[in-house]
Amino acid sequence: MTYVDAHCHIFKQYYSNPELIIESCKEVHMLITGTNLVTNKEILALKQTNVDIAMGAYPIDLLNGLNIKDVLEQIEENISEIVAVGEIGLDLHHATRESLPQQIEHITKLVKLANKYQKPVVVHSRKAEKEVIELLPKIATVPVLNHCFSGRKSLVKKGVEAGMYFSIPSNVVHSTHFQTLVKIIPITQLLTETDSPYLWKEFPNTPNTVKHSIKKIAEIKGMKENDVKQQIYLNYCRIFKTHEKMKAVLS
Ligand SMILES: [Zn+2]
Repeated sequence: MTYVDAHCHIFKQYYSNPELIIESCKEVHMLITGTNLVTNKEILALKQTNVDIAMGAYPIDLLNGLNIKDVLEQIEENISEIVAVGEIGLDLHHATRESLPQQIEHITKLVKLANKYQKPVVVHSRKAEKEVIELLPKIATVPVLNHCFSGRKSLVKKGVEAGMYFSIPSNVVHSTHFQTLVKIIPITQLLTETDSPYLWKEFPNTPNTVKHSIKKIAEIKGMKENDVKQQIYLNYCRIFKTHEKMKAVLS
């Protein structure tokens, strides 16, 4: 059974040789998430047995001139190549609250496209955690993965109740916030991620650091490492690999 990195950015702007990074992370099944027209296109070439691709639009890029229509077109053109729409989201850390209506308009268009093709969504929520937890259940008819969620406990509980998934970054080894998330979230709604190249003591981070998270999650949940690893891979498959098929069988 393989490890899972459900959110990473293995882009040329961070790694001189992305192929080599993937080659060095053979034990990890990864989801590389694009953020704009350039990275969405670039990561297509990286697809392989243990590498899935998601295409999205970072909320800040959309406020800074990235055209939503162009992104929607690009995603639709490549819909059979991707397992999810992401990274998408709301961000009130790098942008002001005045931009929120525009950000909501953007994410709603992206989620509608994901709904149309029954692709799960991978969502960023920096300093807009409440807004994401309230909005997404209203607009998404597909699984929602909250990546690197920094909201408070009550919001996490709301998200869990709404059936959302949460991916925990490798810095759970020392972050008490993420350790609390692991305690609250049922193992069936948990995933591991790295957000490479970020969020690790060394820069650039790589998907291999998810191994540390598995150890920590096992410790917190009082489970065997292998059982955690297996459950997280099953969660990944349920969300990204079999979601469409399940839907077809159920309907
Ligand atoms: Zn990210």
